[in-house]
Amino acid sequence: MNAQIQDPQSRRALFTNGKFFSKAAGNSPVHVESPFLDSLLVNGGLIEHIGSEDDSVVVQARQAGVPVYDMRQRTILPGFIDGHMHFLLLGQSLQKLSLEGCKSLEEIRGRIKEYSQAHPSAPRILCRGWMHSMTNGAAEASMLDDLDERPIFIDSKDLHSTWCNSAALAEMGVEAMPDPVGGSISRDASGKPSGLLSEAAVLTIIWPHIATVATIDEKLSALKAAIAAYNQCGYTGLIDMAMDENAWEALQVLRSKEKISVRIAAHWLITPSNSDAERLAQVDRAIALSKVFNAETSPDFRIVGIKVICDGVIDACTAALLEPYSSNTVNADPLWTTDMLAPVVKRADDAGLQCALHAIGDRAVRLAVDTLETCCLSAPTSATGERRHRIEHLELASPEDARRLGKLGITASIQPVHADPAILRAWPKLLGEERLGRAFAYKEFLDGGATLALGSDSPTAPHDPLRNIYTATTRRSAREPESEATVNNHFVISLCDAVSAATAGAAYSCFADKRTGSLQPGLQADFVVLDMEWEASLLLNASVKETWFGGEKVYDSGL
Ligand SMILES: [Zn+2]
Repeated sequence: MNAQIQDPQSRRALFTNGKFFSKAAGNSPVHVESPFLDSLLVNGGLIEHIGSEDDSVVVQARQAGVPVYDMRQRTILPGFIDGHMHFLLLGQSLQKLSLEGCKSLEEIRGRIKEYSQAHPSAPRILCRGWMHSMTNGAAEASMLDDLDERPIFIDSKDLHSTWCNSAALAEMGVEAMPDPVGGSISRDASGKPSGLLSEAAVLTIIWPHIATVATIDEKLSALKAAIAAYNQCGYTGLIDMAMDENAWEALQVLRSKEKISVRIAAHWLITPSNSDAERLAQVDRAIALSKVFNAETSPDFRIVGIKVICDGVIDACTAALLEPYSSNTVNADPLWTTDMLAPVVKRADDAGLQCALHAIGDRAVRLAVDTLETCCLSAPTSATGERRHRIEHLELASPEDARRLGKLGITASIQPVHADPAILRAWPKLLGEERLGRAFAYKEFLDGGATLALGSDSPTAPHDPLRNIYTATTRRSAREPESEATVNNHFVISLCDAVSAATAGAAYSCFADKRTGSLQPGLQADFVVLDMEWEASLLLNASVKETWFGGEKVYDSGL
């Protein structure tokens, strides 16, 4: 007979002598400095009680012989939820050659050469982490062609462009292709593709190509690597921000084979395409999937909404700004016009889906806020607040738009790892000092009443949540911890607020807050045990000891 059925106590476990982060305590004005309680009682995968060791239910559990885990004064936070990431891409990128840290074309070539010799049977060479600045903005196939005969694909760090050798360009057949809407295939004077594909060309040509040539086994092992990497960092949940048929199919297969120890909410990526009909057909596909995979039917594996990429990135001068770039006086238009965007947002909103609009430049942010306001806010009650629509990145927002987020109930989905001073060295020139002072205005979003959801945007940035929280709370570099340089220290947020954004805020942002994201009775026992001091400047010394998912330990550092 099953012991668990015989003895109800065996479904319970008591965690004591720890510092358990309590959002309720954190919100109380008296206890902001120490938002902690000292014991947690778990029952059947759910939190039964959080409080003091002296609480009667805890005392009784002890007397009843419930197993006790001594947390040895470690800090226990709710399991982290990555508010914005790319799951399959992360898994695949864990298997790609990293060009992180390269400073020149020579170094990049050297690393690729070494890798190609070490992997003679790989059908193609996939690299990640290239930054335009490493090659002074140049990305020609001819710079790579003599290295290897196999196709070489080099993702830019921000994933908004891919640099290919001639074999890769030939394999995809891009010569005959027109530029996709919202994207470009760089060409030489004679019209021949020269090596770089950008924006929608990455989404609609490179990603589907790499996805198709990868076998299902490769994809499954990529996904498993991503889950393990996430549990190891203390994550128990994530929001995939560009789900498509390919990744969805691979996840289905994985799910049929094993239990996935991370709760997944996904936004279906809508590409700009050529017509309203094509765009709306993509929204309809997301609606159909959400009818099958939603909070009622499949709470840990859901389609929650759509994702639209409204502009590019600042470094490539493809983010849409209200005023031209300071470095070259050019400007970029958003990748979507209001006329393209409004019907898509409306269709999704009407069907109860959440809209996640990628907007980095202040002009794209304006477009996103305006569109959500006009499409979703016509009713007197804040429909957009009920839907919890969201804007992704918000790297440059005007003071007015920063304030409008909270008023309209729009979640501010932020990725502090992108605000790392070490990767912003080109920004003073690109934006000018004064405008740079507006970048990553997290505190304004918070003060305006917006919910913050913290994410890593991995694999475009490191996924470790502690590094992310470090930059949010110190505005300093996690890449170069010895540097004391900060970017816009006036927008710093508190450790409590940042941890909440990485847990409860991210859960709220995808309607998972009644299930996970905080240590409260009735919620899933998802938590992470950390060796850390509650001090922002010391976060890089913190380490994850254990990760618990629904009351089961899914990661143990062994220390
Ligand atoms: Zn992203």
